[in-house]
Amino acid sequence: MRTPYVCGNWKLNLDRAGARALATAIAQHRVSGVDVGLFPPAVYLDEVARAVAGSAVLVGGQNCCDEASGAFTGEVSAAMLKDVGATVVLLGHSERRHVYGETDELIQRKVHRALADGLQVMLCVGETLEERDSDQTESVVVRQMTAGLAGVGRDLLHAVSIAYEPVWAIGTGRTATPAQAGAVHRFARGVFAGLYDDAAAAAVRILYGGSVKADNAAELLADAHIDGALVGGASLRADSFLPIIDAALRVSAS
Ligand code: PGA
Repeated sequence: MRTPYVCGNWKLNLDRAGARALATAIAQHRVSGVDVGLFPPAVYLDEVARAVAGSAVLVGGQNCCDEASGAFTGEVSAAMLKDVGATVVLLGHSERRHVYGETDELIQRKVHRALADGLQVMLCVGETLEERDSDQTESVVVRQMTAGLAGVGRDLLHAVSIAYEPVWAIGTGRTATPAQAGAVHRFARGVFAGLYDDAAAAAVRILYGGSVKADNAAELLADAHIDGALVGGASLRADSFLPIIDAALRVSAS
């Protein structure tokens, strides 16, 4: 049984006081049976980790460097994220891939670095609208998963989750339908089975991301292969994020 996982990706938003207030509100909303993760801007990780201390809320980085240390101006290492309270890091988010030009090879190096330095990894994959329209969704997902996980041993899979985020649904208000998302999740789980085995595929959590809101979360999460949500815009306020956590709880209890 996979525990639902609901994460807020705050991207380049909020300030210190806003981050603290939001994290505090989420930590106070005690739920059991749903894992909750927050991905604040790196400079507020420390603040957010303190705000959620004593709760079960996980804190993570939105990105990390592929190198451990050295002359890499502007970068933040996996070990630094861990040092200020992160236990997990998002890698391969579509904004990293498509706005900042991160390649599968770079993302693969980041995955290895993060796992080696003791962070869990949430590997994000997903096709652009052009790729979907030209029937390349599956080939993109298989390519991004295969590259991102290359060389990751079974012993580290407990620290890996996947987020399927169709690029055309991120921040656009255009959500994949439960059928569209569910089909790709099923496919991605099959890819995982091919890369590892059925037991690993049954255990890995695959989250959906892309315009998840309180009013569409339940129908997405009702799909047996959608194990949680990676939420951007709707995670920036407690009153739009907490109902998504509650929806995950309701669906898993039903
Ligand atoms: P969105 O972002 O919920 O604002 O579409 C999701 C994400 O990019 O993780």
